[in-house]
Amino acid sequence: MTRSVSILGATGSVGQSTLDLVLREPNKFDVVALTAHRDVAGLAKAARATNAKLAVISDPTLHGALVDALSGTNTEIASGDEAVTDAACRDADWLMAAIVGCAGLKSTMAALKCGRTVAFANKESLVSAGSLMISAAEASGATLLPVDSEHNAIFQCLAGNSAKTVRKIVLTASGGPFRTSTLEQMAAATPETAVKHPNWSMGAKISVDSATMMNKGLELIEAHYLFATESARLGVLFHPQSVVHSMVEYIDGSVLAQMGSPDMRIPIASTLAWPDRMETGAEPLNLAAIGRLDFEEPDLARFPALTLARDALEAGGARPAVLNAANETAVAAFLARRIGFLAIADVVKAVLDRYDPADPATIEDVLAIDAEARRVAETAMKGLTA
Ligand code: NAD
Ligand code: MG
Repeated sequence: MTRSVSILGATGSVGQSTLDLVLREPNKFDVVALTAHRDVAGLAKAARATNAKLAVISDPTLHGALVDALSGTNTEIASGDEAVTDAACRDADWLMAAIVGCAGLKSTMAALKCGRTVAFANKESLVSAGSLMISAAEASGATLLPVDSEHNAIFQCLAGNSAKTVRKIVLTASGGPFRTSTLEQMAAATPETAVKHPNWSMGAKISVDSATMMNKGLELIEAHYLFATESARLGVLFHPQSVVHSMVEYIDGSVLAQMGSPDMRIPIASTLAWPDRMETGAEPLNLAAIGRLDFEEPDLARFPALTLARDALEAGGARPAVLNAANETAVAAFLARRIGFLAIADVVKAVLDRYDPADPATIEDVLAIDAEARRVAETAMKGLTA
């Protein structure tokens, strides 16, 4: 039986890994819709390779370029943000939500409202609108399959167990490129050194988040919503080998961990084939070659983003949306060499100190909070230099 699939953010790191899996077993999958922001060539290549029914470029000024790039194919072409949201609702058995940032909020939400089976990579939208998204999924009967390697690990460790018997969930973190760096060394970080992740190859934004540890902070909030678990029962451990992707501790003292090579095709495949399994081409895990697995407490003094995120999670309401928008703005500024590495967390803190809106009741409220938090972040960054 074939499975019809759509990929939002098909040209990104997660999108490309997803396409790699789909093309591994082309007879098993029918590609419905692929979307990208500005990478016309990448989108056209993916649409040709998969014979996609629909290709959407979200930047409308690139419509003509996509028409040219897909000439001679039967692929339908659309452009603009609304077309991305429409693509999310096209009938498909499985949808990958892999747009980066809050830019993915509307389309991911649309897929959930349509009751789709959503492989969920777009963590920023869940951080910003977690309660609304989970309620929408419950109302429509949508299925959420976590793609983030930690959450996918937890999902696998929870299978077949009662949620009532979970004592604790522990997210592992590699520690990123600056795990053992001094604050002085971190102050001198550049976009090049910050995106050089020791174990994973990922998009630029999440790579910077992994260097500040904001990624783990966002993941704590993500875990809170995905697994209905409060902050006190969510832990973080540094684990530099990135072999244990996360763990679940049960009331009887059993700790279940999921392990594997650090290759995103593994968690993606577990959602793509779910509830079955499929081959991925990932390097088999060789524990004898790795030799040892280390674990250590994170250093909160050098990684203040973890505390900022945990505080936002515990405060709830609009705090996670403000945190996320401030972080997206600060990371973009760091990548553009407008601010230094350590300023990222300072800017996020400044925005949280200055802007404390009421709880969002709708997605429009979340988008308005997101926009205002970005403005406050721009103000907070005035006068800063890299
Ligand atoms: P990426 O930057 O490599 O790709 C992002 C994708 O989103 C691209 O296809 C791009 O065209 C699209 N996009 C960007 N801005 C857009 C906009 N304004 N409107 C519409 N589309 C837009 O990012 P990535 O590393 O693949 O990450 C995607 C998501 O998955 C993120 O939320 C990230 O946190 C999460 N994630 C990634 C990894 C990883 O290994 N890369 C692991 C876990 C979770
Ligand atoms: Mg992760």
